[in-house]
Amino acid sequence: MSELIWTPTADDEQVAEALTEEAAGLLGGPVQGVWAAPGRVNLIGEHTDYNGGWCLPFALSHRTYVAVRRRDDGRLRIASRQASGQAWEGSVAEVGPATPGGWASYVAGVASVLAERVGAQALGADVLVDGHVPLGAGLSSSAALSCSVALALHDLVPELSGLDRADLASTCVRAENEVAGAATGGMDQSVSLRAVDGHALLIDCRDFSLTPVAWTLPDHDVLVIDTRAHHSLADGQYASRRAACERACSVLGVASLREVDGVDLEEVLGRLADDPEVARRVRHVLTENARVLDLVAALAEREAAEVGRLMGASHDSLRDDYEVSCPELDLAVESAVAGGAVGARMTGGGFGGSAIALVPRGQEEGVAGSVATAFADRGWEAPHFLTATPSAPACRVR
Ligand code: ADP
Ligand code: MG
Repeated sequence: MSELIWTPTADDEQVAEALTEEAAGLLGGPVQGVWAAPGRVNLIGEHTDYNGGWCLPFALSHRTYVAVRRRDDGRLRIASRQASGQAWEGSVAEVGPATPGGWASYVAGVASVLAERVGAQALGADVLVDGHVPLGAGLSSSAALSCSVALALHDLVPELSGLDRADLASTCVRAENEVAGAATGGMDQSVSLRAVDGHALLIDCRDFSLTPVAWTLPDHDVLVIDTRAHHSLADGQYASRRAACERACSVLGVASLREVDGVDLEEVLGRLADDPEVARRVRHVLTENARVLDLVAALAEREAAEVGRLMGASHDSLRDDYEVSCPELDLAVESAVAGGAVGARMTGGGFGGSAIALVPRGQEEGVAGSVATAFADRGWEAPHFLTATPSAPACRVR
């Protein structure tokens, strides 16, 4: 067993058994089933989703489990093993932007958005959560939570049977945006609900159509480096990046930056010359879209070195043009490559969270050790590591 790299042993049966038992005690009766939905990493294509661009995430083997029992009185009782003392009880009808607030909004928000279709009375439920995706690490524990709940309610409420997984993903996006107050562009929910085992998903964020892309590098692993850093400016910076992209669209006279994809880059940037900062943001988005498609091609050719090079170029662009990296992410990337990674980049929105490194199988410990030493040398909190394997989408486990 590795010393540094955390590979959780979440066995579906064991988790489902323990959760079912605990739920029976806590909620006062048996649940009807247990559902699980994965977190994700994004291989490449960052800050492209809200620009109608491309991204290439895959589902982790790390998942969030929910034990659920339907209620017929329109009430919700919600508890999580990761939020002890913060259980919530209320009615579906009262759920809104300020209610319940906190973590329970991710669960209640899904019920409330689904209630628009079939009425609040039908969406009552008792829910006990057990998350095995690290929280707040940029690995989308939030989508793992909302998606597991959405699938559970879909399976338990017959009136929802007409909804497909794309509908459930957009339900979760709305729950996160409108109830939990979290800005999210739709990549996370799509991959959590619609991943294909052993594949990354090429997502065209113009219409959220998906193309599975086989993971063709069996002699390489993706090492996730959770920097443990969380810079509080993240939310405001996310909003300001979106605003910059919208400004660019209005100058360019397009609805989305996707519309200038394929147009000569220098020409586009020339039209934005009055605002060099906006031009740099756009340069990131357009070059990142191209890198996503190049990485898909490199995977098809099994060219690990090219995959690594594109990851590095993505990081440079996020650091220099989009300016969403931070010292911890930069050091994680530099020290991973110095330790033997083929390439590395920040993943997720930035300002903390995780980086990913493409590592030849067997060298994970060396790479993790190099990163851990670099962090220790600065006196920073020790990063966490886990190995990411392209895994299956949300499903019912019991
Ligand atoms: P990420 O999605 O990258 O993990 P977010 O900040 O988007 O980071 O989501 C983390 C939030 O999601 C937590 O602060 C909490 O509110 C909620 N959450 C996720 N998983 C759980 C869980 N197992 N139990 C309770 N809350 C959870
Ligand atoms: Mg999230």
